Amino acid sequence: YEVVDAGSRNGTFLNNEKIEKQTPLKKGDMIKIGSVALKFLPKGDPERLTYDKLNLEANTDRHTGCYNKTYFNNKIDIEVKKSKVTGTPLSLIIFDLDHFKNLNDNYGHDAGDFVLKDMAELIRNNGVRDNDVFARYGGEEFVILLPKTNLKQSYEIAERLRKLVEGHDFIYDGSKLPVTASIGVADYRKGVSTGTDLFKRADGAVYKSKEGGRNQVNFYRE
Ligand code: GH3
Ligand code: MG
Ligand code: MG
Repeated sequence: YEVVDAGSRNGTFLNNEKIEKQTPLKKGDMIKIGSVALKFLPKGDPERLTYDKLNLEANTDRHTGCYNKTYFNNKIDIEVKKSKVTGTPLSLIIFDLDHFKNLNDNYGHDAGDFVLKDMAELIRNNGVRDNDVFARYGGEEFVILLPKTNLKQSYEIAERLRKLVEGHDFIYDGSKLPVTASIGVADYRKGVSTGTDLFKRADGAVYKSKEGGRNQVNFYRE
């Protein structure tokens, strides 16, 4: 790897010295561009592995292995901005487990914990694509952000996931647990200008699914 200044006004600095020509990089070199400093760590460097691990831990929900709310909130804002610029579709699916408090009360908190973990794995293994962001938003509430996916497509995915959860055997301590989800879907379109706007629309659709009798999918309508 080498660094070269492509004719900038303020220059590029390598270990605090302005570079005049293309210069090879060594492990740990500090590159300064304007007000930004970058440290060069080659792939596989132990220091870099530590950063990668810390980063992963900071972005992950421990119990389910899903991304966490912080990561998701950051990502949804970025993706909405992208869609504003490029016009590419973007969808959000939110699902909230039904009567989860009852499940805890009837089968115990450990059974509830088991369901959350098992369900996350079920979803992960069934159609969450590489570019989708599958996150645990709160206790028993999960979200999937789907870039390049329109409302019709995400509605179909949501319905498939709903059936998947309904049909899956969640067996804990010899009992089959009753697990279903109420799902809301929305996509990026006129009236959505921030991640929060998109979230509110999908969340409103979850509310409709709860009101409509649970274990169903609704999408945002004007
Ligand atoms: P609704 O169908 O309206 O969503 O009913 P609900 O009981 O699922 O909703 P409510 O928001 O009243 O309760 C959510 C429950 O989820 C309460 C809480 O004990 C449980 N819960 C949240 N996080 C966890 C968790 O990490 N583990 C377990 N076992 N339970 C959790
Ligand atoms: Mg909830
Ligand atoms: Mg719930």
